[in-house]
Amino acid sequence: MSDRPNVVFVSSLAHSGSTLLGLLVNERLGGVGVGELNVFLRGWQADRDAIVQRPCTCGVPSGECPLWSRALAFADAGGARSDADVYAAVQQAVVELAGPGAVMVDISKRPVHLRAAARLAPTTLVLRLTRDVRSWTASEQRRVRARGTGRGGVLRATAPAVALRWYRHNRALDDAAGEIGTAVLPVGYERLVFDTSEVLDAVEAWVWSRLGGPDPVAGGARNHLIGGNRMRYAYLETGQLRYDAGWMRGGPLLSLAAAVAPLHAYNRRMVHDT
Ligand SMILES: [Zn+2]
Repeated sequence: MSDRPNVVFVSSLAHSGSTLLGLLVNERLGGVGVGELNVFLRGWQADRDAIVQRPCTCGVPSGECPLWSRALAFADAGGARSDADVYAAVQQAVVELAGPGAVMVDISKRPVHLRAAARLAPTTLVLRLTRDVRSWTASEQRRVRARGTGRGGVLRATAPAVALRWYRHNRALDDAAGEIGTAVLPVGYERLVFDTSEVLDAVEAWVWSRLGGPDPVAGGARNHLIGGNRMRYAYLETGQLRYDAGWMRGGPLLSLAAAVAPLHAYNRRMVHDT
């Protein structure tokens, strides 16, 4: 039996609902949710004090958390140097905590982490999450404007420029998953929010069909998330899904940008036909 967990990896742009998808999928699969690993990978050596004090969603600081304390111990014992070494230590901790058939739900999104997962895990499955171009563009425009803008910033914040970035960056994620050669399931964020159980049924069936059925000894889902704003974990406490529909008041430029042929077709295929 492999000493590595199977990895379900959420690949998406930032601000596309990956935390929510990771939580919902992990709940279904009875896996171990490790959240976004970047915080841990960045800080495990350089800023150890901050890392061990970070509150984990399991209710204790990381230094006392059954997952992160093990991951730290494995990283130290193995003389970890690179992100890939630390990633391996996290995988080892997941197996020690949940057994060799465990599913690890990783929402670190970035191709560099996907490569680390795919190199080690017996099976790495990618959920390619995409948020509707109009919704993502409107919220990204707000963020760009809030960061303050010079003359270049004004242009960068226009709907066509932002929508084009959405398209380019999403296509780059598709290319990365294609190069790595992992199995990929597209998941539309809007469908996840509005047809939640249908989408989760499809994700669950897809995952188990590739892993040969659920892990017979899996306990309930465990979530060990230490990154980001705790508001993003509100779902854990409230069980409520909220959708920001502000983009529906967006101007004609937003509609125009989203109607450009390749972008429109890609949006339909990745978000609404999934
Ligand atoms: Zn924890």
